[in-house]
Amino acid sequence: MNIVLMGLPGAGKGTQADKIVEKYAIPHISTGDMFRAAIKDGTELGLQAKSFMDQGALVPDEVTIGIVRERLAKPDCNTGFLLDGFPRTVPQAEALDSILTDLGKAIEHTLNIQVEKEELIARLSGRRICKTCGTSYHLIFNPPTEEGKCDKDGGELYTRADDNPETVANRLEVNMNQAQPLLDFYEAKGVLTNIDGQQDIDKVFADLDALLQGSRS
Ligand code: AMP
Repeated sequence: MNIVLMGLPGAGKGTQADKIVEKYAIPHISTGDMFRAAIKDGTELGLQAKSFMDQGALVPDEVTIGIVRERLAKPDCNTGFLLDGFPRTVPQAEALDSILTDLGKAIEHTLNIQVEKEELIARLSGRRICKTCGTSYHLIFNPPTEEGKCDKDGGELYTRADDNPETVANRLEVNMNQAQPLLDFYEAKGVLTNIDGQQDIDKVFADLDALLQGSRS
């Protein structure tokens, strides 16, 4: 079960990735997580990645492709893997094809969780924080019992500056522009499957699961 999972911020990619790797017992390979772990451990890779990540820029391909090549060669990937956050560019997608060819493997599912921009903005800008204790809520996913008030201490809830709809819309725009060439690349190859991410979490998973089940014989 070799899977590439794609989706814009707020599409629910992380949630669905967790469910898939649990059900199919395959490693979850997230380049973002690998970089964050390397930074935390103070490794050479972490040093290389940090300055790019701090600016919200992509880590250079030669670094990123190198760590994915190493990771996919590990024995736990023999029964499958789920790639999350990689590939992010067409050169990375081409490199992935060649890495997998070298390893005698191929991608079986290229999945994109689709959610409309307006819905993504609503999801991403729904976060509210308690002024006094810092507890985080979400207007859609984790609302407080009483609107605008913290369940724990009654503190006033506010929106962080970088969660305001305008900032969120800019962030999304950058991500959409970055993701489009990659989606076009897989679309042109005829291997892209879009999943409706505007449904309940469980229904999205049911759709993904039905596709993945279909490939198991
Ligand atoms: P993520 O957790 O996927 O949002 O990734 C966090 C950060 O890690 C990104 O903003 C990039 O700086 C870096 N990163 C993760 N995956 C890649 C990738 N495939 N190519 C380049 N940089 C990446």
